[in-house]
Amino acid sequence: MSGKDEPEPQKSLKRLTWQYENCLACVWFSPNDPINADILERGLCIHPKLKEFNLIVSGRDWCNLYKEIRQKQIDLLQEKAMKAEK
Ligand code: SF4
Repeated sequence: MSGKDEPEPQKSLKRLTWQYENCLACVWFSPNDPINADILERGLCIHPKLKEFNLIVSGRDWCNLYKEIRQKQIDLLQEKAMKAEK
């Protein structure tokens, strides 16, 4: 089946998963729920230049100050959140 013939929901899903370099994958994103964060997650942007504005962004937002987060940093964020839950 070519992309042209696919039903609309499939096309929409592809557009969602195709996104990258968004706030969810940015080192400056501070999600409300780091354990279950997905592209619809809301959180604060803590970039030093933007922090003062208390910007609430979603995982699918983006700006040109984007910097990719490393897996190790995601692990630390999630471990910290899990400890806080206990
Ligand atoms: S707004 Fe920009 S700097 Fe802030 S989390 Fe999103 S991509 Fe990163």
